[in-house]
Amino acid sequence: MSLRSTIDFLLYPWLGAESLNQRERFADHSRETFDAVFDTCERIAREKYAPFNRLVDTQEPQFDGEKVILPQATHDAQKAYAASGMLGAAQDYNVGGMQLPYTVEAAANAFFAMASVSMGSSLLTTGNANLLMVHGTPMQKDVFAKNEFSGRFSGTMCLSEPQAGSSLSDITTRALPDGADFESDPLGPRYRLKGNKMWISAGEHELTDNIIHLVLAKIPGADGRLIPGTKGISLFIVPKKLVGNDGELTGVRNDVALAGLNHKLGWRGTTNTLLNFGEGKYPVNGEAGAVGYLVGKPHEGLRCMFHMMNEARIAIGMAATMLGMAGYHASLDYARNRPQGRPMTGAGKDASAPQSRIIEHADVKRMLLAQKSYCEGALALELYCARLVDEQHTAAPQAADEARLLLEVLTPIAKSWPSEWCLEANSLAIQVLGGYGYTRDFPVEQYWRDNRLNMIHEGTHGIQAMDLLGRKVLMEGGRGLELLAARITATAARASHLPELATHADALAEALEQVREATRAAWATGEPGDALANAVPYMQAFGHTVLAWIWLDVALAVQASDATQSIAENTGRMGAMRYFYHYELPKTAAWLQVVCNRDRTCADFPEASF
Ligand SMILES: Cc1cc2nc3c(=O)[nH]c(=O)nc-3n(C[C@H](O)[C@H](O)[C@H](O)COP(=O)(O)OP(=O)(O)OC[C@H]3O[C@@H](n4cnc5c(N)ncnc54)[C@H](O)[C@@H]3O)c2cc1C
Repeated sequence: MSLRSTIDFLLYPWLGAESLNQRERFADHSRETFDAVFDTCERIAREKYAPFNRLVDTQEPQFDGEKVILPQATHDAQKAYAASGMLGAAQDYNVGGMQLPYTVEAAANAFFAMASVSMGSSLLTTGNANLLMVHGTPMQKDVFAKNEFSGRFSGTMCLSEPQAGSSLSDITTRALPDGADFESDPLGPRYRLKGNKMWISAGEHELTDNIIHLVLAKIPGADGRLIPGTKGISLFIVPKKLVGNDGELTGVRNDVALAGLNHKLGWRGTTNTLLNFGEGKYPVNGEAGAVGYLVGKPHEGLRCMFHMMNEARIAIGMAATMLGMAGYHASLDYARNRPQGRPMTGAGKDASAPQSRIIEHADVKRMLLAQKSYCEGALALELYCARLVDEQHTAAPQAADEARLLLEVLTPIAKSWPSEWCLEANSLAIQVLGGYGYTRDFPVEQYWRDNRLNMIHEGTHGIQAMDLLGRKVLMEGGRGLELLAARITATAARASHLPELATHADALAEALEQVREATRAAWATGEPGDALANAVPYMQAFGHTVLAWIWLDVALAVQASDATQSIAENTGRMGAMRYFYHYELPKTAAWLQVVCNRDRTCADFPEASF
């Protein structure tokens, strides 16, 4: 089954994406315009990305002392992507966008993620510019965001520092007003920044005329000290090269210097950098300090930054999903062609018979079906969440508010579940190829290395789990969890009327009840230390329950689909759904046991005894 046919099924018969054109914002669109976008993206991904995925892995970015050198293929791919209009796809027509639903944008980007996840840093550029469209001044939108949407400039997100990763409250990058007239700069209140930012993706390259860094820094209080905690954090636009009010380069280099490239396990098509801000390598007007323009109000930087969080995390979940899918397709192709072993019969093996192809062995089928259920299920989840983003932005007020709250609860799952389970899919893909899978002659090891990042960045697995159990399921009196429970219950109720789905509907209802009970039990003492000690097993069980729901809902769409749908494809969907219910969902009870018991085996383990 091709990615395109999977996306088509999920978007149209399942999510009814074509009905979005009934909303005023999307009125010019139709299934035909959506399909045209997919045709274009599929073609660019096939021609400009996929053939070079191994090349960008082996030809890592190099720093020649002045410039970062990337393969020509990366330049060509990014040019083609920008020319397609995808950088500003969801934006208004009047800023050069296409007013595409986010559901369609997310689905279209899946083709690039599967072809070569690390060749495009478009997620960062789009996220950066989208943030400015919400929090920037009209001038900041014109000068920075619009040039990012056109592909002339690219963007980064500079949050992490060497000593501050998960704990952003500990950042020490400082921002001081730049001169007496600092507030009157047309580009925004002007500051000078000093500090180091670690792990900055796409932080240095020659792919675009300029790089627009969005930097978190602290403005010191009246006593000159940095305000502790996240409250002191502000957000700044720090361009690599200074620009005038017309967006043209002034010829002055800003004081942002590459301290070094990080050499990564995977995702090597994108540079990853340690950047020094304001150390004096490129003084501006004779002074050390990177020039930065405040975005929004002082001390509200993290709030602005997190504005884009839902979409960024869906995009990370989608990247993880598509890496899993790439491994699934590669290992499926291999399994269909590799002869090895013979079937065991009651009379033993017949050594004179021709060998089976490995796809005929039950255990290989198990590994393929696991991958299919993880990756196609995760794709459905990501598209469902993308649809919620559109609901949040364009539905009637009550439905929009429900979508907002559901997204709050589902976002940690949308980010983390594919990061863990589509990575597991990549491991299974290697296993299907046996020794060949462990070599660089086949692509599956690279997919695994590329995917290993996703449990780490944009909030580690542990941090996502604490966000889910410590905040999201409790917020607004637990209303988000109840909204989700209502949707899961509605799906189970519909499925309970169909003989082939009724037992799964019961299993789903039971899993949901266990998750609710575990949520209560985890917080029974009211002690965060007790509740959160097992936040990751909780998130695993929660995620598996959500995926079981998604699969059952997809199965309902399969049952309702007409005879024109491919029988083999629908049999595949039903089989993957059954696999999930028989092999995966039962794991939730074991994960939840330690949560319900507030098990402190790990929390209390003495450090000296490790
Ligand atoms: C390839 C790559 C690209 C990246 N791109 C960017 C980027 O573009 N911009 C950017 O700003 N950052 C970026 N990052 C940084 C990334 O977001 C951080 O690595 C991540 O937030 C974790 O921070 P850390 O590496 O300092 O690990 P730490 O925060 O030190 O965490 C180490 C471990 O401790 C756990 N841990 C930490 N605190 C707690 C706690 N309170 N409770 C329980 N467990 C805890 C974590 O879950 C993790 O398992 C990137 C990282 C990588 C590797």
